[in-house]
Amino acid sequence: MLRILEQACGDPVQQMKNERSATVSKILNFSCVDGPGNRLVIFLQGCNFDCKSCHNPHTIGQCDSCGLCIPSCPAQALSLSEPYGSGVIHWDTDLCIKCDACLEACPKQASPKTRQYTVTQLLAVIRKNSPFITGVTVSGGEASLQLMFIVDLFSALKSSPDLQHLSCMLDTNGSLSESGWHKLLPYLDGAMVDLKAWQTETHKWLTGRDNHRVFRSIELLASRGKLYEVRLLHIPGKSDFDSEITALAGYLQRLPSSTKIRLNAFRHHGVKGEALEWQTCSEADMTALAEGLTKLGITSLVLPSAYL
Ligand code: SF4
Ligand code: SF4
Repeated sequence: MLRILEQACGDPVQQMKNERSATVSKILNFSCVDGPGNRLVIFLQGCNFDCKSCHNPHTIGQCDSCGLCIPSCPAQALSLSEPYGSGVIHWDTDLCIKCDACLEACPKQASPKTRQYTVTQLLAVIRKNSPFITGVTVSGGEASLQLMFIVDLFSALKSSPDLQHLSCMLDTNGSLSESGWHKLLPYLDGAMVDLKAWQTETHKWLTGRDNHRVFRSIELLASRGKLYEVRLLHIPGKSDFDSEITALAGYLQRLPSSTKIRLNAFRHHGVKGEALEWQTCSEADMTALAEGLTKLGITSLVLPSAYL
């Protein structure tokens, strides 16, 4: 009888097995800095940029279950399901003491502390938090590397009567292709795009990639009314927003007036490698950049609330 019912209604366990899943590094139940209002933020693992200034470098790589981080764990929270080299890394959340020693030990900028989520599983998380939020933001890493999962998730949100009031936003480095954007746009309410540098060469030096696609993404989103925010990370003496301020301001002025221009201050927190030697961005550095942009007609600036 059960089998007949499953055939008629569809087996929910089988449906979940057939669903796409995403590698999730973290879920934040509440944020007020990742888009408008109160938002649940889903951070996906993996990035196609390799930013020297990255504050979360362990979100860049994908874990290949090499097992090298296991000995670093003081709580025996990590194990391989099979002998080294052939198994899958297992993270025991009950044992984990959140010391992050495994992140330091990983040679691939990855993390053993990720989880696979299907759309159904994430909808359950979102549903539980829905009374307290106005929307969902998918972030990274670079979230758009798992584009079709985001399309499925946002499409499911838009077609769920009890969740369709939640806005769907993407936090991105802007590297998605035009054809990729066209898949997502029907379900997307807005995007926050990082512009890491003005000059192509500076961008390439800072991120490993040039910025042509970033500009194309900004312009495409602007033309569709879906550019919520452009984010500029000010690294004094390294990013070129102050030296290229006239060209930058001219570009930003041509964007829709509703677009927020968020200025972020470079800090050392989480950063690795040569960027630890770089000067951080002080309030005075940021004020100088903001005043320069304001003089050139940029009025929609959002500045950091603290410089800790
Ligand atoms: S997190 Fe890094 S070190 Fe640990 S198993 Fe994965 S790839 Fe290997
Ligand atoms: S963060 Fe958790 S899993 Fe990683 S080393 Fe520390 S206790 Fe182990």
